[in-house]
Amino acid sequence: MAVSEKKYYHAIQLIPENCTGCTSCVKVCPTEAIRVRNGKAQIDPNRCVDCGNCVTICKFHAILPKSDSLDIINKFQYKVAILSSSYAGQFTEDIAYPVSKQALIELGFDEVAEEAMVTDFMVGLIRDYIRQHKDIRPILSSNCPAVVRLIQVKFPSLLPNILHQEAPMSILTRFLREKIQAEKGLKDSDIGIFLIVPCVAHVTAVHQPEGAYKHLQDGAFSIGMIYGKIRDRLRKMNNEENKINTYEQGLTLALSGVEAEMVDCEDIRALSVNGTDNVIEILSKVEDHYLDQYDYIVLRSCTNGCVGGCLNVENPFVAMSRIKKLIKTSKHQKVDTSELKELYKDGEFAVVPLEPRSIMLLDQDIKQAIQKMKKLNEILVMLPGLNCSACGSPTCYALAEDIVSDKASIDDCVVLLRRHQKEEE
Ligand code: SF4
Ligand code: SF4
Repeated sequence: MAVSEKKYYHAIQLIPENCTGCTSCVKVCPTEAIRVRNGKAQIDPNRCVDCGNCVTICKFHAILPKSDSLDIINKFQYKVAILSSSYAGQFTEDIAYPVSKQALIELGFDEVAEEAMVTDFMVGLIRDYIRQHKDIRPILSSNCPAVVRLIQVKFPSLLPNILHQEAPMSILTRFLREKIQAEKGLKDSDIGIFLIVPCVAHVTAVHQPEGAYKHLQDGAFSIGMIYGKIRDRLRKMNNEENKINTYEQGLTLALSGVEAEMVDCEDIRALSVNGTDNVIEILSKVEDHYLDQYDYIVLRSCTNGCVGGCLNVENPFVAMSRIKKLIKTSKHQKVDTSELKELYKDGEFAVVPLEPRSIMLLDQDIKQAIQKMKKLNEILVMLPGLNCSACGSPTCYALAEDIVSDKASIDDCVVLLRRHQKEEE
């Protein structure tokens, strides 16, 4: 399988002057993308999958999320916001959900749509895809961009297992673009479609779409970034149920476990997994064919699913409880998805096969690589095996790898250094 050589966009940024070199981020990175060298964190862009773990763990604000500035909507004649389902859980219960949606109109959008509008359609699409691909088991969900990238970096043999169809917010974007052009007589370039998202992976997916994420949107705003502006508007608004439609029954996509329950049926067995460590463990088991009895596995990088995204403002458990209440108490607004069904039948949502990501190889030359592997094993025997990260590499193996690649020195191991100092005393 060809390894992609492209440059990667990331929706995170390092602020070196804030970094204390504490190595907390090194320990939580699932792809060993971070090193601390000379007291400062560095991120390998080839390995980063935008999971956001480092953003959450860094207490010194040395790794910050990037998101677009709200001003960019003004470049377009007709502006649409699409809400990720976790948005509904971010406001206290005294603010009615339709009012929190209306606040975005007050902020300058002409229309606000919800990922929740295509939930039922997605369940049908996923079931159909699973039934049509009986030779691949299990099928892996493609809705979490961090998981898709994690598979590209760490589990490339599982790339064919990914559901090769566009993600819900991309499908909705396409639907809205065509509907607005037809209804309002506007050109495609007049319409700006923006996502309001809970995690850095979704911001990255808008700027550098991969597989299920086609370049359909014009920007992405983090819930955290626009939350203050929305609260300001809400203070000026009358908290009354208003004309705006809402689709609470479809908010299930934000909840860990519910997508799997919805897809699960007589002939389809589905499993739901969330949290980066759990996802990695499950993907290892899929590689070993230990989970071939499942037809579909829903994988979310954030703990508790999208409500756990690092760009949300509310505690994930509280947000989950609010969303469940909205689902229970709402009347179902139906969306006519007959057009989408036709597009799906015509193969319009199929995406190109995903490629593995280029990660650190010991050497391009096979002979050199074997030599370096030999040296790596010799170094590994000398290292203490504590995986303490005090050297700035995530594990002793990673330090040995860095040493043979001339990116670190054996003197970076503080345990060995202390041992030598004691011997000399
Ligand atoms: S968590 Fe990482 S980026 Fe933040 S201060 Fe520690 S080493 Fe620096
Ligand atoms: S976003 Fe995730 S993958 Fe990227 S550097 Fe941070 S912890 Fe590692």
